[in-house]
Amino acid sequence: MIIDVALPLPLDTTFHYAVPPEFAPLVTTGVRVLVPFGRRKLTGYVIGTVAESGEELKEIVAVLDPEPLFTPKELEFFRWSAAYYFHPLGEVLKAALPAGINVVSRKRPVTAADGSMSEEEVLTGGKLARMETFYRSLPSGELPPNLRGKGLRIAEFIRTVAEAPAGLLRREFGATAAHFQRLLALDLVAAEQREVYRDPFREEVFGHDTPLSLNESQAAALERIIAAIDGRTFAPFLLHGVTGSGKTEVYLQAIAHALERGKTALVLVPEIALTPQLVKRFKRRFSCGIAVLHSRLSDGERFDEWRRIRRNEVSIVIGARSALLAPLAAIGIIVVDEEHEASYKQSEGFRYNARDLALVRGKLDKAVVVLGSATPLVTTFHAAQQGKLGYLQLPSRVRNLPMPATELVDARGHKGETFLPQMLAAIADNLAAGGQTLLFLNRRGFATYLVCQDCGHVLRCPNCSVTLTYHRRRERHFCHYCDYSIPAPSLCPGCDSPEIRLLGRGTERVEEEVRGLFPEARVGRMDRDTTSGRGGHARVLKGLEDGSIDILIGTQMIAKGHDIPGVTLVGVVSADATLNLPDFRSSERTFQLISQVMGRAGRGDTPGKVLVQSLAADHYAITRAVAHDFAGFYAEELGFRSEAGYPPFSHLAALTLSGNSAAEVEKAAERVAALLSGSKRELRSRVEILGPVSAPLGKIRGRYRWQILLKSVVRADLHRLLARFRAGLKLSAVVRMAIDVDPVDML
Ligand code: ADP
Ligand code: ZN
Ligand code: ZN
Repeated sequence: MIIDVALPLPLDTTFHYAVPPEFAPLVTTGVRVLVPFGRRKLTGYVIGTVAESGEELKEIVAVLDPEPLFTPKELEFFRWSAAYYFHPLGEVLKAALPAGINVVSRKRPVTAADGSMSEEEVLTGGKLARMETFYRSLPSGELPPNLRGKGLRIAEFIRTVAEAPAGLLRREFGATAAHFQRLLALDLVAAEQREVYRDPFREEVFGHDTPLSLNESQAAALERIIAAIDGRTFAPFLLHGVTGSGKTEVYLQAIAHALERGKTALVLVPEIALTPQLVKRFKRRFSCGIAVLHSRLSDGERFDEWRRIRRNEVSIVIGARSALLAPLAAIGIIVVDEEHEASYKQSEGFRYNARDLALVRGKLDKAVVVLGSATPLVTTFHAAQQGKLGYLQLPSRVRNLPMPATELVDARGHKGETFLPQMLAAIADNLAAGGQTLLFLNRRGFATYLVCQDCGHVLRCPNCSVTLTYHRRRERHFCHYCDYSIPAPSLCPGCDSPEIRLLGRGTERVEEEVRGLFPEARVGRMDRDTTSGRGGHARVLKGLEDGSIDILIGTQMIAKGHDIPGVTLVGVVSADATLNLPDFRSSERTFQLISQVMGRAGRGDTPGKVLVQSLAADHYAITRAVAHDFAGFYAEELGFRSEAGYPPFSHLAALTLSGNSAAEVEKAAERVAALLSGSKRELRSRVEILGPVSAPLGKIRGRYRWQILLKSVVRADLHRLLARFRAGLKLSAVVRMAIDVDPVDML
């Protein structure tokens, strides 16, 4: 038997190995095997068998899994993804499988094919879920009269709930081993050891909610989705609904329908830590198994969730980006909430976009795919206009709530002022009326740079081409790219002058100003610094929900889908930073961000108000957002995209070369560009090759970066060119090249 094995190596090929007869019954597509590779032993994935060729092949050393980790159908999806993103299949598989599968690795002797023993690092099944004792009540009549106090309460509790885990009894009743032994001796309970999963969202969700009765546009959207689910063919939709239009309710009812038909549902959200409300809503609505996958799970927890999915113990998977790779079978519907979010794109390693792959997986699984957003990507809306996506619209808020009243304030000529008078008055009024206020600013920290008034010296990161951000509470200047930091100097490091100034402002400084201006207000801050650690986001959100925060200052985290009825004022302190980034999507990002932040206002019974301060008060991204005018924004942006030849009028791939030597990286970039040009001529390809140029962020973490951008009207041309050029490429060992198909981050 000869097998084809994908190895997690930066190589474009798979490898053939012979399987000794004793292993043959264990080897199937989807299991991992230990194989010799050069002088090393590597874990590889069996992706198929091949015909005998008479060729001299090395033999596998061990079979690592008792059953396959992926199905042939999943393999087809992974193969497609690997080819599309020019990423090695072995690494794609490694990214798709939970890291926890490798947690337990230990030395153990293995028997090689020739019967000799050797000491090898073997990866076994992974850390098991923990074992827990459950106490089950036995049917006997009255509780004995000599059972009193704690013992009695524990026995009564077990009777009412039929069975209870020991941990819960210890926590709730202070039960000890003696109590358990006594109950067992009295034949009141039986004990049983059981495997339990580590539940990442352990907090119990109480209560149950029932489907809401839908308004007309919700009902119309749902009807079309339901018809598509019943059609059992691939059907993609854009659900375009303004903020607070009840998109989530449509997802919930569509999913309920899919479950009734015996199908499962996959729900993608941009960052699950930011959406605790959504998870709770799902748990209250559905009694079926739900798996939750997010970035803050430990390896063990992730492995547990993965196994529950693999064993068909769940019908709904909710998660961020990587949930799209989960081993869910019989998918009836895939929901991509906030489909415009850049976080669906993985920016390192396997650079996939979960939003795009949702459509691919939906097609393979004959599922319905719903892309939901109040501010869809220009490319998504364009696809809907072209009829490639079904268009479902929710044009107004639920319960006929009005969109918030908005006002644009021109900040030009007010340099150095955090708040313009209109903003201050609005905050004061809202505070007096008992409303909650959100203040948005897209920079964390206190000041964005330190500059010497005498010699012009600016504090920069030695590893990255950015300035250092001052964080007052920690009295240090930080790099937001590599976490390099230095203690705040009192003299200029360049000339020892005391005339150093902190310029620019971040959330920390705005918070301080707000506390000074409104000493009676209860002020909170939500950014990466205040929400680190588990449950950090939920903690801050809870403060808003229970009314213990009057004013919350935050970065884009506060823009996400929270639904807090008490928020009646949203102030955009500054959104100009995103607008000035050297990226063709900067207008689109700014429009989306402002629209989403604005959408947090007035979701309760009191109408909301929004104030936007801007130094670019006549830029269409800002004026259209403030006017709630998606159509107008789309028309202008599409004009720009068409003129400049950007998506949807072209397809892009970005090549980034990086390394520690500036000269080597530049040289490699030139060579890659020359190779590309050569391949382009051979293929008579119409792909445009732009660059090489030094990247806008020319250095990150000590690595210099050069870019080449490929642009093509026909996608197939782009892929053909990349494939041809890659076959002839040999890079020097000190330079790395990353291919990014459909890049999202152009910096
Ligand atoms: P979106 O996801 O579009 O921002 P949500 O689905 O979160 O909006 O809905 C906003 C609020 O409106 C939620 O509190 C939700 O429970 C409520 N809601 C949704 N649909 C209806 C409906 N048909 N009638 C009344 N309330 C609704
Ligand atoms: Zn100086
Ligand atoms: Zn840095």
